[in-house]
This record gives sequence, C-alpha cells and structure tokens, in this order.
Amino acid sequence: MKIIKCEHCSMEIPGDICEFAVCTRAIAGKEHVFCCVKCAERYEKRRS
Ligand SMILES: [Zn+2]
Repeated sequence: MKIIKCEHCSMEIPGDICEFAVCTRAIAGKEHVFCCVKCAERYEKRRS
C-alpha cells in the first residue's frame, strides 16, 4: 500500500485508494502533495 505524506502537516494519506483524495500542487516547478487545499495554500504562503 502506497502512503503519501502531506508536505505541510505530515498527515499520512493512503495514496492508492483515491487519487482525488489528495491535493497536488506545483510550487516552484516541483509537484508537492498535500492532504487538502488548505495545506497546499498554507505551504505556498509559507514559502513565499
Ligand atoms: Zn495537510
């Protein structure tokens, strides 16, 4: 079973259940994985 970790809050996401359950966002040319859109936005804000 493939486990993906949210890059903002480190929550574990079971990656092979549903690919739409995770939020991916390209930041600075690299794809990052998050548990939700909120984490993606927070991570992006923290970087800039
Ligand atoms: Zn998260």
